[in-house]
Amino acid sequence: MPEKKVNKAVVCPMCGELSKAVVYTSVNATVSKSQRKKILDGSLFAWKCPSCGYSARLTYPILYNDMTNRFMIYLIPKIDRFQICDKKLEEKYRNLCNINKRVVADFNAFKEKIFIFESGLDDMAVELTKAVIGQTVAQKLEGAEVQAGFLSMYDRESNTMGFTYFTGEKMTPYVQTARLEIYGKSKEIVEQFAVKDKKLDGFIKIDAEWADNILYRYKRARKIEKLNKIKQ
Ligand SMILES: [Zn+2]
Repeated sequence: MPEKKVNKAVVCPMCGELSKAVVYTSVNATVSKSQRKKILDGSLFAWKCPSCGYSARLTYPILYNDMTNRFMIYLIPKIDRFQICDKKLEEKYRNLCNINKRVVADFNAFKEKIFIFESGLDDMAVELTKAVIGQTVAQKLEGAEVQAGFLSMYDRESNTMGFTYFTGEKMTPYVQTARLEIYGKSKEIVEQFAVKDKKLDGFIKIDAEWADNILYRYKRARKIEKLNKIKQ
């Protein structure tokens, strides 16, 4: 799929002047390395008002396509649905299987997914690991609220993975590393409890909410298992 550009009307939030901006609705990372870079540093979304010079980051839906690493990420700002089925897209890629298709609601999650899939990791297992490590961080910080977390480091050689969490009212960043064994265990849980999700059509949202749900099912299954052992 080649990249796609469209003209978009933008009203400057500062001076109210109406102008046009060229935005990408689709980007192919395999074809264009520079587009990939511009997405990751945010410059692809940068906009400057020709009238007053005010600059802002535009938010609009964009589809990111990486056929080498076999993934597609659909950034749809503020989307709150778990699954997006785009019939046209499905038709187009019918012959391609085993492509990870994800939908994300914000720019940080968008960048994180690219990092995860480029590193050859399973994003479902990463989300579970992040949720479990997040609980440890919450305990360490004695009740400070642990908000969104993102995978920020992955090093196979040193057997570690690092997450950056935003904590407390001021959203102070807190970095916590974890050994890859936890990720390995998370992968086992995914294989056991997320088989259905792996087979879903369309773009799905794999995030903290999804991870909490899987962990809940995992814990419930363990409880039942224990109870059954006692009965025997
Ligand atoms: Zn302006």
